[in-house]
Amino acid sequence: MRIRAAVTETPGGPFVIQTVDLEAPRPHEVLVRIAAAGLCHTDLSMQASWPRRRTPMVFGHEGAGVVEAVGADVTALVPGDHVCLTFHSCGRCAQCAAGHPAYCHSQQTLNVSGGRGDGTTPLSRDGSPVHGAFFGQSSFATFALAHERNAIRVPADLPAVVAAPLGCGVQTGAGTVINRLRPEPGSSLVVIGAGGVGLSALMAAVVLGCDPVIVIEPVAARRALATELGATAALDPRAADDLGTAVLDLTGGGAHHIVDTTSRPEMLRQAVTALRPRGDLALVGIGTTVDFDVMSLLSRGIRVHGVIEGDADPARFIPELVDLHRRGLFPLDRLIATFPFENIGDAVTGMRDGTAIKPVLTFD
Ligand SMILES: [Zn+2]
Ligand SMILES: [Zn+2]
Repeated sequence: MRIRAAVTETPGGPFVIQTVDLEAPRPHEVLVRIAAAGLCHTDLSMQASWPRRRTPMVFGHEGAGVVEAVGADVTALVPGDHVCLTFHSCGRCAQCAAGHPAYCHSQQTLNVSGGRGDGTTPLSRDGSPVHGAFFGQSSFATFALAHERNAIRVPADLPAVVAAPLGCGVQTGAGTVINRLRPEPGSSLVVIGAGGVGLSALMAAVVLGCDPVIVIEPVAARRALATELGATAALDPRAADDLGTAVLDLTGGGAHHIVDTTSRPEMLRQAVTALRPRGDLALVGIGTTVDFDVMSLLSRGIRVHGVIEGDADPARFIPELVDLHRRGLFPLDRLIATFPFENIGDAVTGMRDGTAIKPVLTFD
């Protein structure tokens, strides 16, 4: 079938909307009419570093919409189901079997190889392949093929613009707190960086009864939003000389948990000193190299967690987040800025300049 997709012709972009062809679903795939698609920093960072041999390419990995058709062996979904698309995983390896599909052995090939696990791509243009299957979806398009494993049914009355970011950014932030750190009520938690991931971590910490919950963020509007969402303190990293001391004061001796979404070396070094003995540091930001004084970690028993996709099993976790949202405990709609699909360039600009916390593309 013919679809409209935002195609990247060269590494670094731009996204150009054009007509391409999409195959019919294979036995375990579902065809989804996309109603909304979130923009995530990973789309931009991957686009910037994408290998030229895998262009043209269609990105997009926070799709939401309605199932139009299902492959012959799909059992869990039927046409008409509303779904949120998330990352793909094999379902068979040791990590998948243990309920940690974010660490699937086939993570790279199934999500960021520019095609399905077997090297094929469902997209083409004038008979030539167009790379796709990004996170098992490539949802910067009017339709996407997903696998039944990465299409999670959501209630039909959940707005698609709310469902879309659940698949990556929201799941990443909330899952890091709920699935990995598992803070006790009354324990202290610090979030560094109040973007979509950081604010999702904050909302999860508030739900679990963390106190205090402290946000460190340079943009004043984001600090204000963090406070409205339940942060007990919001610090400007440029105003405080020593964040470590400020956090030690606010937490009565150091934070139990810190979630870093920035991966900035100077923030991470301060984070280590801001933790109490045996505190947890969760690294969520797309990485760089950071030097730590080993003694500052081992002598104080600091635990460092690398967390991808919130260590979530989406089939279980996304319905949990939907439930929290419906009970008014997880107001993620406060983070969302919508843009018509045709204006994807404006969404990219909004994400880059920080005016849009969570840009979400909408489709008629
Ligand atoms: Zn697996
Ligand atoms: Zn993402």
